[in-house]
Amino acid sequence: MPILRPLGSSPFVFFCDHASNHIPAELHDLGLPQSELARHIAWDIGAAGVTEALSEIFDAPAILCDTSRLVIDCNRHLNATDLIPEVSDATVIPGNLNLSKADREARANRWFRRYHDAVESVFLERGARGTSTIAISIHSMTPSLAGQSRPWQISLSSHLDRTLADPVLAYLRRPGDIAVGDNQPYDLNPEVDYSIPFHALRRKLPHLQVEFRQDEVQDAANQRRWAQRFAQALQMLTK
Ligand SMILES: [Zn+2]
Repeated sequence: MPILRPLGSSPFVFFCDHASNHIPAELHDLGLPQSELARHIAWDIGAAGVTEALSEIFDAPAILCDTSRLVIDCNRHLNATDLIPEVSDATVIPGNLNLSKADREARANRWFRRYHDAVESVFLERGARGTSTIAISIHSMTPSLAGQSRPWQISLSSHLDRTLADPVLAYLRRPGDIAVGDNQPYDLNPEVDYSIPFHALRRKLPHLQVEFRQDEVQDAANQRRWAQRFAQALQMLTK
């Protein structure tokens, strides 16, 4: 499991649940053609590059999941019906149909727990050192889903604690040149989302979940440009 800068000096820890569209060889691409595996259903397009850039900008730890969300969605609870989706954005996932309980448990053990153990190792190590931590979950969203287009280039998802969401939102909106979503299209829902609730809410750590729109972060130059813009907003939090 790739962990960048595990001992980085930053208060920020970045993690990217949907960084990769990799399907382990034994799952035979889940019966899907490469054209489907390249789509947003398999991963958060562009999110890994944004996460890597943020890790570099801040000298911050970053954990990037190396298995596709179609194998198991690391931002869902283990009892969620869409943990291992049978259908995603109208695409049937043949390799996920009629899985046995043993198949599901094997996926959880091999890929879900491995990722969350890696994230957990970073938080535990920082806790042991007494290092303060701000947890940032990086996602990307498709520009349009089920006929609904998303006008926001970047969106913040929050729950009850808006300690970070409010100032970051205000900072991003201030120049007036971009549309910034506030709990649109997604809020942070501890009943649905797993990573921030498990790693940050449980420890009462400051946290933020962010979505970059995929057409804005398609290549390395734009991933870096958006990472820098978001980083400026985050930097303001630590001043
Ligand atoms: Zn995601």
